[in-house]
Amino acid sequence: MRLLDGRSMAAEIGRYVVDEAERLTVTGKTPTLAVVLPTADPAARSYSHIIERTAGKVGIRCELHEPSGGLSALVDTVDALATDPLVDGIIVQTPLPDGGSSREIGERIPVDKDVDGMNPASLGRLALGLPGFAPATAAAVVEILTRARVPMAGARVCVVGRGPVVGKPVSLLLLAEDATVTVCHSRTRDLVTIAHEADIIVSATGRPNLIGAGFVRPGATVIDVGTAVTDAGEVGDVDAAAIAPVAGALTPVPGGVGPVTTMLLLRNTIRAAQPG
Ligand code: NAP
Repeated sequence: MRLLDGRSMAAEIGRYVVDEAERLTVTGKTPTLAVVLPTADPAARSYSHIIERTAGKVGIRCELHEPSGGLSALVDTVDALATDPLVDGIIVQTPLPDGGSSREIGERIPVDKDVDGMNPASLGRLALGLPGFAPATAAAVVEILTRARVPMAGARVCVVGRGPVVGKPVSLLLLAEDATVTVCHSRTRDLVTIAHEADIIVSATGRPNLIGAGFVRPGATVIDVGTAVTDAGEVGDVDAAAIAPVAGALTPVPGGVGPVTTMLLLRNTIRAAQPG
């Protein structure tokens, strides 16, 4: 089984981002990403710091905003960033403060700054094939398949999970790549049979070891988006040891989808900073 190394793919994309950031900076435009961290959630904090560090390495300015006054302070922060001409991209970390909804906060991010596809209008644009930003994680799945030269056109793909951040948008992106997509969820009957028919399985549930050997057809590619923190550390949805003798390729957790996601967020910031 081939391990699809997200870290080296991210490094490759990073070289492009460095060049583009430099090109913009010499014209007087420093590409800038605003990361909004509205709660003390440790996972969100740790991801925000990863974004900050990675942005620093590729020449993107990253502002961390930590509004501490609950939902109204978050709204004020996002509204100010929305009209700030120096800010090119905005990502709001979840969880949101009590009473906040991703839809309502997302709607306050202008689509041209919505580098993590949180505005419902961005998902609508994706569905219609219009220009816009997909959530970086969903885009990372397609980026990995492309870089690993796994054919998507005509392939049967089983997406496990229908959430608005991964499952739904990745299904739309794969459809746009001419894959035949089956979207599964917690109410799907006989998931194992559906998954076993697939050339590519994309799992985004957060249920450790959900995908075992019986789910994977010999030679299939498995993209593990899930992240859950257990006593064994960060784990994905896939029982990697069990599927290793059957699968053709797998993204590891950690070190698969995660690093590519962060770099695509930064590549989206470069795109948002381009003039016109
Ligand atoms: P979500 O919105 O809660 O969606 C989870 C989906 O999993 C739901 O559609 C749910 O079905 C489905 N599901 C749960 N248990 C299932 C089961 N036993 N069989 C089949 N489907 C099942 O979560 P999300 O935001 O999409 O995130 C999913 C996972 O991806 C999480 O582990 C998250 O941490 C991870 N993630 C990783 C990255 C990254 O960069 N690596 C980024 C974002 C998210 P129902 O709709 O029927 O409830």
